[in-house]
Amino acid sequence: MNKNNLLSQLTIATSSAESIIQPDWGAKNGITLAVKRDDLLHPIISGNKWRKLKHALMPAIAAKTKHIISFGGGFSNHVHALGYCCQQLNIQFTAIIRGDYSHNPSPMLQDLICWKTNIQYVDRQTYQQRTNVTYLQTMQRQYPNALIIPEGGSQLPALKGVAEIIDELQNSYDYVLAPVASGGTLAGLITGLIQHGKLTECKILGIGVLKGEGYLEQLVTDLLEKDTPSKSWHINHDYHFGGYAKSNHELRQFCQDFYQQTKIEIEPVYSGKLFFALRELIAKGYFPQKSRILALHTGGLQGAR
Ligand SMILES: *Cc1c(COP(=O)(O)O)cnc(C)c1O
Repeated sequence: MNKNNLLSQLTIATSSAESIIQPDWGAKNGITLAVKRDDLLHPIISGNKWRKLKHALMPAIAAKTKHIISFGGGFSNHVHALGYCCQQLNIQFTAIIRGDYSHNPSPMLQDLICWKTNIQYVDRQTYQQRTNVTYLQTMQRQYPNALIIPEGGSQLPALKGVAEIIDELQNSYDYVLAPVASGGTLAGLITGLIQHGKLTECKILGIGVLKGEGYLEQLVTDLLEKDTPSKSWHINHDYHFGGYAKSNHELRQFCQDFYQQTKIEIEPVYSGKLFFALRELIAKGYFPQKSRILALHTGGLQGAR
């Protein structure tokens, strides 16, 4: 199957809009704010998860893969997006889920159940083995025809899909901001800027959405080509709000205010932290006069249900 067939079978948009926003806190120092609306790519498939899955799914379909296995938490946007794709593409999907939600499935797990996903709940210890080579080899022997996709979909083919965001840009920017969890999105954006020869003029700023100073940088570095200049990108760790999926009243209120002002929905796990950080950094004068800033809205509204 080629790309266009895949896109039409999933009825997913080929690219997303890039729009200027003017929240009251953005009017400072002649700064321009734009949002890349990957949240609008598809009503069910979460934006950046599609970017990361696309180039894994195309060869899988070409090879007539009948079974895909992947990993995630009970609210994972990655597992949700992949579960939907597999259901639409008639591929069996096994989801290895951290924790036992069998008596109390999240809305995301309820969707997977509707989509006939084979859900396997595992304890934390087992889940920790998800990147262990021996564990994965054993799994591959058990399911020799299955394609195993890592947590978050963050693997090399993912970078190619995310880099296409840079191909689509209509305007030039001084900064591109994105939330960081498993690192694939940031690594893909860096790769895209390198391909366009723009890594020196445009800076990449990741906002860590979990407590992971050092760890997140390592995840991104591990995905990048070895000769990528490490000074060309940076991750800020001041806006994780205590950890993954942790939030407080101020952040939730900010998400609502942001919607009031821009009519763009955001949630407190990823995009809320991204735009909150953006507001704070603008207020602190982090960005020079007249900076042109692009924030990537990665989607993810399903996880906030
Ligand atoms: C998974 C996810 C991210 C994090 O992307 P990584 O590539 O894992 O760093 C950001 N935003 C949303 C909405 C996500 O679902």
